[in-house]
Amino acid sequence: MSENLVTKSFINVDKDSHFPIQNLPYGIFKPDANSHSRAGTAIGEFVLDLSVLETKGFFKDIISAVNVFSNDSLNSFMSLEKVTHKEVRNILQSLLNENNPLLRDDENLKKECLIPVNKCIMCMPVHIGDYTDFYSSKEHATNVGIMFRGKENALMPNWLHLPVAYHGRASSVILSGENIIRPKGQTKADTAEIPSFGPSKLLDFELEMGFFIGKGNKLGHAIPVNEAADHIFGMVLVNDWSARDIQKWEYVPLGPFLAKNFATSISPWIVTLDALEPFKSVKVIQNPEPLPYLQSKDNWSYDIKLDVSLKTGQSNDSFIISKSNFKNLYWDICQQLAHHTVTGCNMRTGDLLASGTISGPTKDSYGSMLELTWRGEEPIKLPNGEERKFLADGDELIITGYCEGDGYRVGFGEVTGKILPSVLN
Ligand code: CA
Repeated sequence: MSENLVTKSFINVDKDSHFPIQNLPYGIFKPDANSHSRAGTAIGEFVLDLSVLETKGFFKDIISAVNVFSNDSLNSFMSLEKVTHKEVRNILQSLLNENNPLLRDDENLKKECLIPVNKCIMCMPVHIGDYTDFYSSKEHATNVGIMFRGKENALMPNWLHLPVAYHGRASSVILSGENIIRPKGQTKADTAEIPSFGPSKLLDFELEMGFFIGKGNKLGHAIPVNEAADHIFGMVLVNDWSARDIQKWEYVPLGPFLAKNFATSISPWIVTLDALEPFKSVKVIQNPEPLPYLQSKDNWSYDIKLDVSLKTGQSNDSFIISKSNFKNLYWDICQQLAHHTVTGCNMRTGDLLASGTISGPTKDSYGSMLELTWRGEEPIKLPNGEERKFLADGDELIITGYCEGDGYRVGFGEVTGKILPSVLN
C-alpha cells in the first residue's frame, strides 16, 4: 500500500506515533483529577472520550446496553459480541477520518470529546478477576531450565506438548507507572545450610504481553482453538516482576508462588485483535505436532517489535537492554486459551492471560535480567559506566512495543515501573 492510500485522521498523527487511526485502542481515563473515570481511545496526542459520544447517541444503533463507556472499567463493553466491537471500531474510524466533517468541523463537540493526552490520568482499564501466566517461549524455557536444572533437563518432557502456565494473582496486577516495592521473602543460597529471610537480592523483570478475555465461556464448556480469537478482546504489554532468589528456593514442586505475586505491571491501552490483523505473521513450526485440540486452521502469530530499556537512579537517560519480538513465541494465544479451557475451566470477561517471558534466539533478545546476565555471571555494562546483574533500587524499567506498517505504526505505548527499597517492618 502506498503511503498516500493510508487512511488518515483529521487529527495530526506523527508517523512514529503508536496511536494512528489504524490502532484505536481502548483505555480508562480521567480528563482531570476531579472527574470520574470513563472509556476512551487514543488518537495521536489526544484521547477521544467515548462516554461523550455514547451520551450523544453515536452507538445507539449497535449497543443496546446503557453506559458501557461511562464505567470505571471496560468490562461491560468487553463482554459484548465481537461483531459489536468491530462495529464500534468502524464508527470510530469513520468519525476520525480526515474526509468526514461530522466531528472534524464541529468545534464544540471536538472541545467536549478530544482531550490532550498529557492532561489525562490513565486508570486500570479492566476489572481483572483472574490472571494466568504462561511460559510459551522455547528460548526462555530452555535458558531458565539450563540455569535451574542443567542442560540435560532444560526443557521438561511436557513442554513441547502443552502450553505450560501457572495461576497468578489478579490483586497485584497494577498499571504502568506504579512503583514496585522490593519484595522480602525466604531464600536459601546453595552454600547455606538453612534458609534466611530478607529483601530479595535478585529482583528481575519479565518482558511479556498479555491478552484480555472479552466474552467468556460457561463452566464445563471448552473454547475450541479455532473459536478462541472470538473470545479475545485485545492485548497489552506486561512486566511480570520476579524475585529469582525467592523463586529458586520455593518453586519445587508446585511452581512459582511468592516470587511472582508482589506485582505485575500492564500498559494502559488495550490494542484489539482487529488493529493487529495486518501484522499477522507465520508462526514458529511446532515439532512434534500438537494434539488435535491444539491445532488451529491457520497458524499465525503477530509481528510486534519489543524493546526493553533501563533507566537507573544515577542517569537521566534510559538504555535499551533487550530487543525481542512477540512472534518468537512457540505457543500462540489461541492455543493458550484452548488449552486453559479444555478441562471446562470457565473464563470470565476481563481475565488476563499473559504470554510468559518473550526471549528471542540471541543474547540481545533475552527478556529477563536472569538470561541477559546469565544468572548475574555476565553483568550488563551500561553506556554510563554502571553495571547491573539484577535490578537495583531506583531503577526504572520501560517496555515498549509496536507493529511497523507502511507509513504508520500500531503500538502499545509503554509499561514502566520503578523499584523502591523494601519497606522496613
Ligand atoms: Ca512470567
